[in-house]
Amino acid sequence: MSHARQYVVIGNGIAGTTAAETLRKNDPDCKITLFTDEPYRLYNRVALPPALKLKTPIPKLFMKTVEFHQERDICFFPSTRVTSVDLVGRTVLTDRGQEVPFDRLLVATGGMPNPLTVPGADAAGVCYFQTLDDTKGLLEEILRARSAVSIGGSYIAYELAEAFRARGLHVTWLIRGPRFLHRVLDEHGGLLVDTIARSHGVEMVYEDSADHLETRDGHVSAVVSKGNRRFEADIVGCGLGLRLQHDFLPKDEVQVAYGVVTNQFLETNAEPVYAAGDVAEFYDVDLNTHYTMGTWASATLHGRTAAINMAGGHQQVTEVRSYTTTLFDSRMTVIGATPEIQVELESVSHTDFRGSSPKEWSYRRLFFFEGRLVGAVLIGDMHAKVDLVNVIRSKRPVWEDRAALLTL
Ligand SMILES: Cc1cc2nc3c(=O)[nH]c(=O)nc-3n(C[C@H](O)[C@H](O)[C@H](O)COP(=O)(O)OP(=O)(O)OC[C@H]3O[C@@H](n4cnc5c(N)ncnc54)[C@H](O)[C@@H]3O)c2cc1C
Repeated sequence: MSHARQYVVIGNGIAGTTAAETLRKNDPDCKITLFTDEPYRLYNRVALPPALKLKTPIPKLFMKTVEFHQERDICFFPSTRVTSVDLVGRTVLTDRGQEVPFDRLLVATGGMPNPLTVPGADAAGVCYFQTLDDTKGLLEEILRARSAVSIGGSYIAYELAEAFRARGLHVTWLIRGPRFLHRVLDEHGGLLVDTIARSHGVEMVYEDSADHLETRDGHVSAVVSKGNRRFEADIVGCGLGLRLQHDFLPKDEVQVAYGVVTNQFLETNAEPVYAAGDVAEFYDVDLNTHYTMGTWASATLHGRTAAINMAGGHQQVTEVRSYTTTLFDSRMTVIGATPEIQVELESVSHTDFRGSSPKEWSYRRLFFFEGRLVGAVLIGDMHAKVDLVNVIRSKRPVWEDRAALLTL
């Protein structure tokens, strides 16, 4: 008699939770164990910025009930960290002393923020923005703050700058590079974002970074930059990128680079181990390169695809990723591949400054690989998004049509 297959999923973000749900559908008799080191069931990470702006109440963030796991017979262990994986014995060990066997293992552990490492960075009021607990901490800090500095040129640094401003603080946004998302936007896109941010009262500082933090009674009070400028800061919000979470894997057996390396089926080099979501550095057949995604939709798709394959299927990840965010009172969408993923892309851009206010302005930059459109970034006017996604999906050579695509 063959035994019911045992699956262990590490991480209950959207990738891990979707995988557990899909495993139950595709392998009804299996045993599923789902671990997370956070104390919560799945919540909506994408809705953390609205929560910080008090537009979404915390209880509305939760996407699954306790009954959801019970009804699907998913053994769910919150506040439980997987500390090591034994591939020979096929077990995971946790910080609560559990040893749980698996036939197939999914790593869906996402990332944690890179820490600010300058003197004073361990002071109270120095905040990160990745988890619900981070958000609760920020909500507390904002209550007694008048000024904030957001550090970094990433999406998270933007979300922090915008939320601080929405909560009425005086905000400085300190970016080490020449502009926001300096590999995705060219100087015209950077100028547009700069103008929008300044029109919302954000003080923009480029090509400078924190040297040390001043503190008062153990709490941050100012950021002093390498350029020797001083910025008042009752809160410092850090958006310095992520450290992906895979320390618990045996590195001599499972290949890791920045993330956990997989093929297009989300299989690692070690046969029973799969990876999905932010932590997966997966192989893109079209671009012939590995990269990590970092978007909610990709993590959902990864979770589903990995689970189908763990249960015996053979599906590839083929998807045009898309990340849409507010940009103060404008909007931005990044579609497909950008130089963050593949540096050798050719690009063209167009900026439209018509209209009396920055929120009416628009920007489009298109990325090409071997004559095919592979990615785009849009600010303001979004009407061409679906058509551009279709051109990317078609994989046809369009370099000669690039001027028309800019004004599509
Ligand atoms: C503030 C914010 C705003 C965002 N906005 C957008 C947006 O507008 N659009 C968009 O597309 N994307 C956005 N993202 C990104 C998106 O949320 C992520 O891409 C997505 O949530 C990743 O899901 P995941 O399941 O791969 O990982 P995660 O959601 O990070 O889940 C991984 C889980 O695994 C746990 N874990 C880690 N190590 C262990 C261990 N050893 N043992 C047990 N558990 C472990 C972690 O604590 C975590 O709970 C945003 C992210 C943040 C933080």
